[in-house]
Amino acid sequence: MAGNITFTMIKPDAVEANNIGPILAMINKAGFRILAMKYMRLTKTQAGMFYEVHKERPFYGELTEYMSSGPIVAAVLVKNNAVADYRKLIGATDPTKADEGTIRKLFAKSIAANAVHGSDSDENAAIEANFFFSQLERF
Ligand code: UDP
Ligand code: MG
Repeated sequence: MAGNITFTMIKPDAVEANNIGPILAMINKAGFRILAMKYMRLTKTQAGMFYEVHKERPFYGELTEYMSSGPIVAAVLVKNNAVADYRKLIGATDPTKADEGTIRKLFAKSIAANAVHGSDSDENAAIEANFFFSQLERF
């Protein structure tokens, strides 16, 4: 059965471009409720821990450098079928391949600086949400 939470980050490029507001508006308009949220900056080590699964990929160094280059917004979102529906809302990893009207199509700068993160499974949504938020920070 599909779970009802997903984890997202508004990445440094989108924060820098003043797109926190427009992206949160799209998230709410698409029917997601914000369960938890914080504005923070990751160290390179913390970004490396978050993206541990990509450790062997050629872009890992660049990705962790980029994700620690400025503040991000981290959030847990609630909706029926949250993981799949949020992946649909954000669009493909490569913004040139993202569908019209998706967050990445509208706001991403490149395949690395692609505006937002979205969990890829219920299992990873839970792991990622737990990496950032305690039970006391969920409402
Ligand atoms: N990424 C990159 N180059 C690539 C593929 C991915 O810089 O060729 C970055 C990009 O920021 C992406 C993140 O690594 O969002 C994680 O990659 P993943 O394949 O999990 O894409 P996502 O799940 O974010 O769509
Ligand atoms: Mg991914």
